[in-house]
Amino acid sequence: MKTIWRPFASYNLWSLFAPPVGQERWHCDMKRGFQKARKKEPSVAALLEQDNTPQRIGHLAQRVVYEFHQETYLLNQSDGVARVAEILELYQESDEVQERVISILKNYQTNPILVGKTIIHLNRGDEGFPTPITIQQGSYIFNFFAAIDCIFTEPDGTLHILDFKTGKSDFDRRQGFVYLLAANYLYPHSKAIASFYNLESGKWSEPISATAAQLNAIQIELARIAQLHDLEKKRYRQNPDDFAQIFPPNSGINCQYCPFNSICEFSVS
Ligand code: SF4
Repeated sequence: MKTIWRPFASYNLWSLFAPPVGQERWHCDMKRGFQKARKKEPSVAALLEQDNTPQRIGHLAQRVVYEFHQETYLLNQSDGVARVAEILELYQESDEVQERVISILKNYQTNPILVGKTIIHLNRGDEGFPTPITIQQGSYIFNFFAAIDCIFTEPDGTLHILDFKTGKSDFDRRQGFVYLLAANYLYPHSKAIASFYNLESGKWSEPISATAAQLNAIQIELARIAQLHDLEKKRYRQNPDDFAQIFPPNSGINCQYCPFNSICEFSVS
């Protein structure tokens, strides 16, 4: 079924508007401009097509969990890590990606946290955009995207939404609340909690739950972001020369790690 175009919101968009606590120095509104308003321009599209190393590791880490749970006997085999590495065609990746994904494979084989759980959803990691949830907030309607990695049920029937992480970044509780809002629409009769598990460090976050009032506040915030982002994109389309006013740059050390530094006139090295 074709998705009806509407203004949209997601955790990703929220984090591009307001960084997680402690990451303010890395924040640059212009990145959102490139990523979301100029994404169809050939030079931007070419950069967006390239998975950077952390993104590549994130996608492959999700595949690790998925593939092990497709063939669970591999979790108990001495060549299980090598067999999944072969399925992932890891030999095609850079040395850093290979090294870190092998470590994730070994970690997961040693501590397969989903074994024994009733899994009701497990993302492969390369499915692309999820189906949007249509939300009406007052008279405003927007599409809400929440790409959920995994859902399993706790013994008491509570839905547990689990998000897999890699790397060193801290968990952002806002993402947990966004998942809980999605669960509230997708499974309106079920109690739900959300948590994060880092496949490299083995660290599991405390479970997050939300009251109806908290979910309502998240929904209002997402509606505000969807509306504002849509307005800013329209302003850009009408006045492309105002790009830097609509999406102000925050040049600095963060430019070094920005995917747009080769085309951004405000980039500093
Ligand atoms: S290169 Fe720097 S100023 Fe330009 S978009 Fe990236 S972070 Fe912002």
